[in-house]
This record gives sequence, structure tokens and C-alpha cells, in this order.
Amino acid sequence: MTDSEFRAIQSNDCQTLIFDGDDTLWENNIYFERATADFIDWLDHAHLSRDEVRAVLDEIEHVNIGVHGYGSVMYGHSLRETAERLRNEELSPDELATILAFAERISSHPMELIDDVESTLSALHGHHRLLLLTKGQREEQEVKIARSGLTDLFDAAIVAPEKDIPTYQAVVVEHGLDPAQTWMIGNSPKSDINPALAVGMHAVFIPHAETWRMEHQDLSSAPDGQRFLTVERFAGLLDHFGPARVRDMRSVRSGRTDALGGKGER
Ligand SMILES: [Mg+2]
Repeated sequence: MTDSEFRAIQSNDCQTLIFDGDDTLWENNIYFERATADFIDWLDHAHLSRDEVRAVLDEIEHVNIGVHGYGSVMYGHSLRETAERLRNEELSPDELATILAFAERISSHPMELIDDVESTLSALHGHHRLLLLTKGQREEQEVKIARSGLTDLFDAAIVAPEKDIPTYQAVVVEHGLDPAQTWMIGNSPKSDINPALAVGMHAVFIPHAETWRMEHQDLSSAPDGQRFLTVERFAGLLDHFGPARVRDMRSVRSGRTDALGGKGER
């Protein structure tokens, strides 16, 4: 959809749908979880439980995010630091190579789209303006976007180092969005739902069973005039934004209220 086409129908039914990438469009955190399990097996700590080792790794990652940002490079640094701290000694070159291989395997894993993502986005494409907003290391995220094969379905793909309120404010300005006509769709309360609601957008939460612990946060409730939905599966978006739903909304606006398809309010 061109900008002029978008503007022409924006006042009618066209909305902007912004999609998160990791764990919304494609699998991501499961690879980190597998790598962490392999690392804990390898470390085989004499006294600490798996949860206790994991807690040390989480603490180190939390600090390293501020230094290195998100992604597999930061994660590799964090595995190394965790091993050195818990063994209280430097790693041998072989040990270091083993640990870094846990992290490198993540970025080389084949892309796995989440169920029904491609067909659902294809059905939404042309009816709404679709944007992709993902956080992390630019190069790493751009490789994922390219490997997803979804690029042509989006009007723009944005990589940000963090997805917080200033990021969403900047996206609104740079892409000329009306927050009241914009929905953020993703799996993370911290990075997708809460900051989007804070800048006046609507939000759709699609939970993922393996969402990273650092993305957990209590979900905000929608302020007056904003909407917050939860859908259990990606294809459930069609109940709210699909072509049939857009036709229903047009019918309602033109006075043919009998055409509303019983999908509930937005
Ligand atoms: Mg995500």
C-alpha cells in the first residue's frame, strides 16, 4: 500500500498494525532456552541447582543488556561470565570455544515461523498498513527479517535497540501514525503491550509459552478510549482485523448494522 493510498482510506477503515518479530512472528527464545539448558548441563555445578545457576546467568545478562544490547553476542558474553564466576577461574581456550558455540548456534538456527503467520499477514496485507518493530542488534535482526521471507508484506521494518516509550513515540512521529488508529501486536508485556498503551495505541497480546523471563511484566489495562485484546493464536487476528471484519465495519458505518458478524466489539 502506498502512503497516498493509506492516507486516502485511513479516515475510513484502514488501521496501522505494528508487529513484534521475536516470538510473535518467528520462534526465538526457545533457542536461547535450549542453549541455556545445554550450558547448565555442561557446567555441571557441584553445589548449585539448575535454577540457582540460571539466576546467576539472568543477573549477568541483565547487566550486559545495558552494555552490549540484546542478542546472541551479549548472550555469549553472559555465558562466559557466568562460568568464570561460578568456577572462580578463567576458562581454557577449549572451554571458551564450547561456550561460545552454544551462543553461535542460536543465530545459525533455521528460521521457524510461528503457525499461520504467513497466511494471516497475507490476508491482512492490503487492508491495513503493516509495520514490523523488533528490538536487538541491527544486523542480527535484519538477517532474521530477511530469512523470514515476510519483508514484502510489511510497509516498513524497524529495528530498535530497545522497545520502550521513547521508541514508540519516535515511531509515531517518523511514520506519521495516529495512535488512535494504531495497534501494537506482540508477545511481550514489557516491550510490546505496556509501552504501546502508554503512548495511546491499542494493543493485542499473543502469549507465547516460552517468552523470555526478562520480558515478563504485569499487563497494563487499557486507558479510556483504548483497546486491549488477547488472542491465543496468530490466526485469531483475522477475527478482529481480517477482510470480513473490515467489511463488517464498513457496513456498520454505512448504516447496515445487520451485517455485523457477531465477532464482538474491538
Ligand atoms: Mg517478542
